Amino acid sequence: MLCPLTQPNRALLITILEDYLSRGKVLCCQETQRKTLEGRLPHPSYTAILTDVVEYETVIGLEVHAQLLTRSKMFCPCSADYANAPPNTYVCPICLAMPGVLPTINEKAVEYTVMTALALNCTIAEYAKFDRKNYPYPDLLKGYQISQYDAPMGQHGWLTIDMDGTKKKLDITRVHLEEDTAKLTHCTTPEGETYSLVDANRAGVPLMEIVGEPDISSPEEARQYLVKLRTILQYLGVSTCNMEEGSFRCDANISIRPEGTTEYLGKVEVKNMNSFKAVYRALEYEAKRQRQELEKGGRIIQETRGWVEEKGMTVSQRSKEYAHDYRYFPEPDLPPLAFDKTWVEEIRSRLPELPDVRRDRFMSQYGLPTYDANLLVDSKAMANYFEDCIKLMADTSNGNNLHKKAKTVSNWLLGDFSRMLNTTNASIEETRVTPKHLVEMLGLIDKGTLSGPAAKTVFEDMFLNGKPASDIVAEKGLSQISDSSEIEKIAARIIADNSQAVSDFQDGKQQALAFLIGQVMKATKGRANPGIAKEILLDKLGGK
Ligand SMILES: [Zn+2]
Repeated sequence: MLCPLTQPNRALLITILEDYLSRGKVLCCQETQRKTLEGRLPHPSYTAILTDVVEYETVIGLEVHAQLLTRSKMFCPCSADYANAPPNTYVCPICLAMPGVLPTINEKAVEYTVMTALALNCTIAEYAKFDRKNYPYPDLLKGYQISQYDAPMGQHGWLTIDMDGTKKKLDITRVHLEEDTAKLTHCTTPEGETYSLVDANRAGVPLMEIVGEPDISSPEEARQYLVKLRTILQYLGVSTCNMEEGSFRCDANISIRPEGTTEYLGKVEVKNMNSFKAVYRALEYEAKRQRQELEKGGRIIQETRGWVEEKGMTVSQRSKEYAHDYRYFPEPDLPPLAFDKTWVEEIRSRLPELPDVRRDRFMSQYGLPTYDANLLVDSKAMANYFEDCIKLMADTSNGNNLHKKAKTVSNWLLGDFSRMLNTTNASIEETRVTPKHLVEMLGLIDKGTLSGPAAKTVFEDMFLNGKPASDIVAEKGLSQISDSSEIEKIAARIIADNSQAVSDFQDGKQQALAFLIGQVMKATKGRANPGIAKEILLDKLGGK
């Protein structure tokens, strides 16, 4: 039974319970009896049971910042591609916040933000404006950030995630545009004095903020939301979404509350998470910390906490600011934006096929299971690679054949291919195995030149050295042995050497046959045609 009482009541309840228990009586905690308990006068006829546990639910809302892939910065002509530039070289009087300069709006950044808002099912505002968000911090050279406050570009959107086969719709509050800050590097002299270096190359790079509603109820849902959002932005081509490089950043608001209630017990904002895994771990840690805090009888302080990866914990940074602390006011140097409906519709018509639509198409057109389709479309590059392979494959005109071949390509991409990408920490764009290479190898398997086990070896070699499969097969002598007489000789030897397995098979143990086939494969370094090996063994063992 749940006991949705607030903390002080619960503490009181436990005191009363202990008292009752000591006198050999058992208490009941029910909503209807709460009043009596609060009055410290438990009804003497209670005979039920108290559970000591208040069930809490987790409430998470995510704010994502994505740098936009424009050529120039948000309000000046400096290049936005600063990744490999020496510090403070991609700067001008505007992004250095010199007095008297005037910003101008980057039209492409506005277009990308509208594209994103449309892809996230938002309503596009007819009117939007920029505001100054005032706060003092050394990375903000102007002393304020040009952002958007009460008139953002997009509002009331949503995206869907797939939780174990069930679709969940998560609402998006708003999508707006702002500018990035400079980068600070904190250093210490050998004498132990601390100082900070400012690099303004990043200052003024267009930054899109996507604020989600607090609809997320677990760290895993948060991870799925981020994966989906990143996939959508990558499909749109508006951001690289590289979390490690900081072009895709996530802050999370998290609070817990007794299940079934609507009260918030103090919202905590978590920052400094630079991978999806870090977001997941930080949220798990924070939900647990808040539960423990309440169970100790403490309270949750509204604050900002930073995730410390090495320690696997969050630490308090500062008490949380409220919107009024920023003293927002309209940016006087920029005109408001009016969005023409025709222009918005023109952008909508240019949106590419988005991940959900592509997933559904992969399932209907190629007959792929949901699991495969979801994983393939999670990466635009992987989904493109998949379709490039299908186009290169001969004989896919009849439906069944197409479905079978599509599943084979999917199995390779999600299996050995993904495994090799993970072990070498590479992305599919960097791989030396072209779709043509993979299709050629699958053709060799189809023709019987290459056995399944030997193909794994060939693939690894292709992946590491970028050679075509046929060259590797020739070089390493990996072509499949389908010549019965050759396999017969080997099978005869295996039977002679494994009398135990032979008698097991004759006693009806089927797994003994699998063992013997395995031995033939081992003796031929995976090159024997497994089907022929099985036939020959059965024949020799009299089990046909
Ligand atoms: Zn500039």
